[in-house]
Formats: sequence, structure tokens, C-alpha cells
Amino acid sequence: MTDFSLPAQDAEPRLHVARSNLERLLTVPELAPRYAGAQAPDTLAALAALPPLMKDDLNVALAHLEPRAEHGATWLFQSGGSTGAPKVGYAPTGFYMAGVAAHWQPLDRTDVFVNAWGAGRMWGAHFLVAALADLSGCQVIALGSVARDEYADWLSFFADREVTAIGGTPSVLRLWFAHARAAGVTLPALRKVLWLGEAWQPQLEEDMAVVAPGARRWGMFGSTETWVVGTNTPDCPADRFHTLPEQLVHVGEDELLDFTTLDPEMLNPVLRYRTGDAGRITDCPCGRPGRVMQVLGRRDSVVQVRGLGLHVDELIERVEREAGVARAQVVITEKQGRVSGVDVLLLTDPAVDVDTERVRKDLFSATFTLSTAFLHDPESFRVRAVGALISNDRTGKTANFVVREES
Ligand SMILES: [Zn+2]
Repeated sequence: MTDFSLPAQDAEPRLHVARSNLERLLTVPELAPRYAGAQAPDTLAALAALPPLMKDDLNVALAHLEPRAEHGATWLFQSGGSTGAPKVGYAPTGFYMAGVAAHWQPLDRTDVFVNAWGAGRMWGAHFLVAALADLSGCQVIALGSVARDEYADWLSFFADREVTAIGGTPSVLRLWFAHARAAGVTLPALRKVLWLGEAWQPQLEEDMAVVAPGARRWGMFGSTETWVVGTNTPDCPADRFHTLPEQLVHVGEDELLDFTTLDPEMLNPVLRYRTGDAGRITDCPCGRPGRVMQVLGRRDSVVQVRGLGLHVDELIERVEREAGVARAQVVITEKQGRVSGVDVLLLTDPAVDVDTERVRKDLFSATFTLSTAFLHDPESFRVRAVGALISNDRTGKTANFVVREES
């Protein structure tokens, strides 16, 4: 069977974790009917026959299970959905990174590492990578996110400290390298660029080549529900990830990936959990043995806005509940690969006076992704009434969201 990331002889002896997660899911009143009668999985085929978990299912399960770490603190992180209050994923201190470091060591004791993933607001990546840095014994500069006018000072600090490694979402990294390039700053000591949270952006390499010609990318794939699933090195294509032995990846219908944890310490009951990413199981030109997950992009309505997932359908559903709004459409504007603005276009009933500014304020404050992504430039999120939505001339279809490139 080639639609699993692990061969049966490696995965099946560890399926007791999947069986115990099935038991846990059966205790969740909202989910029990779905799993009633399901066969406890002792083979990969039996596992593939279980119903998949969707994003909201996992949150429903966690609200009921309230898992607690065996040792130390239980950390709560924002997970999934982007409207309203953050949904919650759990992890113990350490964030399972010892298992990652056993297979992937981008950092070592000699590194000076800038952790540029945002800290606070229940974001997971900053702390997860801090745990990896801890295991490597390197120097850590715990920076987090910075405001627009702070880049220049920090970049000269990086140069002075001879920073050798930096990590962030590709959107954040693009800002760092673009600012450095614009300011003529070079970072000759920088060799490693760690990334996680969205697809790699090839345009980044252009700026890296000028700012830090010795720097190479090191990627992780994962989510706050699954934690790190796989990693890659500069020798791997950016869309391929070597999966960890405690992460079982399966390719289901429509090439949708689902994830099953084989780690008994995992607090989230990750059992055939679908993130909405599509992919396939293949090999890697880097030559490292084992199966590799190739990520082909998303198949649901989640789009990445500055490193955060925006649930377009949820947003549209919400705004279409407004009196006088007949239809809505989300337009995402990108400038050189980065989201520069989000517009919500409203087709309104001429007889009703829709207060677009009030709708804008409500959506902005209620949509976690928007208020966070546009924290420093809230004016880049707009709501306006229009005479017509944007349709595809060729198909005549009006999609829920449109991405356009700003020159
Ligand atoms: Zn590889």
C-alpha cells in the first residue's frame, strides 16, 4: 500500500495509539454516533476505513476531553477556525520536539538563532521552535513580531551579533529579507532559514541570494492539532517533507491528506485528522531513505493571510446574515506574493441601507485572523458595496474568493 507514509510492518505495531484515541472519541457525546460500530484499527486497511476527523470535530472532542499533560504544564494554543474566539489545541511542555530533533537538526551549538515567529496570542510556532533550539544548545534571540518601523534597527543588531539562523513563516521571512535588501543590509553569517506555517515562497530565494548568499531553507510541516508531521532540508524540494515515525500520513479521496498520531504522549486525539491539505506519498531526490509527503496545496476554503488561515466560507456566511446583503465575495490582494489587503465585496439590496463601516468593524473584531494579520494596518481590511461581484469570464462562475496580484 503506497497511500500511507509508513509501511505496515512499521505502523501496525503502533496502532494501539489509534485504538486508544478511538476509545477517547467514543466518549465524546457529539462524535460517539459516528464511531459506534467502528472496528478497532489493527491494520492500515482498518484504519483507512474509519471516518475522518474534520477541523471542528477535533475542537469538539478537545472541549469534552480536556486533556492534561502527564508531566509539567499543559499549553493551550489557538487552533483551526478563524472567526470568533480562538479554538483550542493542547500540548505538553516540549511540544513533542524531542522526536523531531531525533531526525532533524537544523541548529547546532554554534548557531545564533533569531526566533521571529510571533509570540503570545496563543500561537504555537514560537514556542515549538524554542523547544527545538533548546535541544540544539544554540544561542536564541526570542524576537517575535516587530512593527514596520523597527526592521532597520533589528537588522543592524542581527549583523552585529553575526546571526547564523532565523526562523518564521515565509510571509514574515519575506518582510525581513525585503527590508534588508531595500536597506542594503547584508547578513553574511546567516546560513539557515527555518520555516513553518505556510507554503514556501520561491520569491524569498531572490532576496536571500542578495542579503544572505550562504543561507539555505529548512522546512517543517505541521499544525497546532498534529504538531510537526515532517521536515525537509535544503536538498529536498520545498513541497516535500520526510515524515516522522510517530506520524502516520494517509492519502484519501480527492488526494486529501489525513493524519494519525502514533505517539502515546499526544494530547490531541489525532485520528485520521484532515487539515484540508492535499498531497501524495512519494520519494525525495535528496536520497534520504523512506517515504516522503508531497503537499499539493489546500482543498478547502482556507486561504493563508500573512501566515494565518482565513476561513473564507465562514466569513461569507457571517456577512451574508446581515440584513440587505444578498451575496458577498472575499478579494485577496497580493503584492509580490504577500497579502497586502483583504476586501469584502457586498452585493446589496438597493432598498436597504447597509452600513458597511459598521459591518467592517464587526467582522474585523470578530475574525481572529483579520484582527491579528492586520494589527498594524487595519485599513488594509475593507468592506464595500459594489454593483457586481467579480466573475470568471471563461466559466461565468463567481467564486467565494478571488486572489489578485497588485503591480
Ligand atoms: Zn529529502
